[in-house]
Amino acid sequence: MNIVPRHLMGPGPSDVPSATLQALAQPTIGHLDPQFCDLMDAVKQLQRNAFLTTTEHSYTISAPASSAMESAMSNLLERGDRVLVCVNGVFGGRLAEMARRQGAEVETLESPWGQPVDLDRLQRRLAQGEPPKVLAFVHAETSTGVRSDARAIGALAARYEIISVADCVTSLGGVELRMDDWNLDVIYAGSQKCLSCVPGIAPLMFSERAWKVIQSRSTNPTTWFGDLQLLAGYWSGEGRRAYHHTAPVNAMYAWHHSLCALIDEGLQASWRRHATHSRALKAGLTALGLKLQNPDSFALPQLTVVQIPDDADDVNVRTRLLQEHHLEIGAGLGEFAGRVWRIGLMGHSARKESVERAVSCLADVLNRPRAEAVDSMNAAYAAIGEAA
Ligand code: PLP
Repeated sequence: MNIVPRHLMGPGPSDVPSATLQALAQPTIGHLDPQFCDLMDAVKQLQRNAFLTTTEHSYTISAPASSAMESAMSNLLERGDRVLVCVNGVFGGRLAEMARRQGAEVETLESPWGQPVDLDRLQRRLAQGEPPKVLAFVHAETSTGVRSDARAIGALAARYEIISVADCVTSLGGVELRMDDWNLDVIYAGSQKCLSCVPGIAPLMFSERAWKVIQSRSTNPTTWFGDLQLLAGYWSGEGRRAYHHTAPVNAMYAWHHSLCALIDEGLQASWRRHATHSRALKAGLTALGLKLQNPDSFALPQLTVVQIPDDADDVNVRTRLLQEHHLEIGAGLGEFAGRVWRIGLMGHSARKESVERAVSCLADVLNRPRAEAVDSMNAAYAAIGEAA
């Protein structure tokens, strides 16, 4: 089947650069070949560099990020354990549901859609009553385009000696993230967002404290595939790795390549690049008369959420963008379905060419003047250049 290429400017996957696709196309070798074991060792270290951690416990799940999420909950929780899940969008809700399926006692701290996790309420909750074993939250809520304060949540969890779990699927590479400095015990991400790798790979990291919790379980996790102590036999023990499953060898080449690209660019440079292009995109969209959903104080640079104007038909606009311009943007999810569009500038898609394309194509499909929007976008780039 011949696939027509698209410009991916939704909530992920993002555009995969051709160098990553070339890495993927290298010859397939065995999943216990010494060359592949060397690559796994390199991946473990690159993941540490990407999450700013020195932890020993760096793993990669051969599956999408939901699988790393499930593995985190399943390995940390046993039946009856208490877990507090901060919910401010779809993915917080998914974390809570996964915890429920482990038989844990799940309490949710709900914040309204479109708002970050409410730190005052979280603080008040932790100050009263018995602390939970685990506190889970989403750093960058992809359903609403909102960033929560992972540093503050990590600090609160550490103060009450709770294991923190941070969903960093959309944040890794796009905004500041520091596993060790921010006291985050368990972190997972996905390959297909701000690292622009092919989908289907998920890094999963544990602090020493979290790993001890896993080792002291009295029952087996409910998952065999995601049982980290079994998986550790494949990912650890340099020189004596044991078969666990047949790893997606070629996707792992691509993941290695994407991690190298992030580290070569530099984390701070990548965070800055996402911020720069997001400012220009917002200027262009605003000039088109679109209203931004989130204030700058907590809006994600890698995912801009705009309200659908009253005179526009959601499905018709997205269909025309895809069919006439090969441009994919995201629909609203959950409470925001039919109310917003989610425009991603993630990884390789976070560049001027994508911003220009999004502004021009939306001007065309929404039938709004293009020149003014392009001028605003360029003025934003010039202002950022002068400030730099
Ligand atoms: N968590 C967040 C914040 C996400 O945005 C996503 C996917 O969009 C996931 C988890 C699940 O990732 P996947 O679709 O790779 O399973």
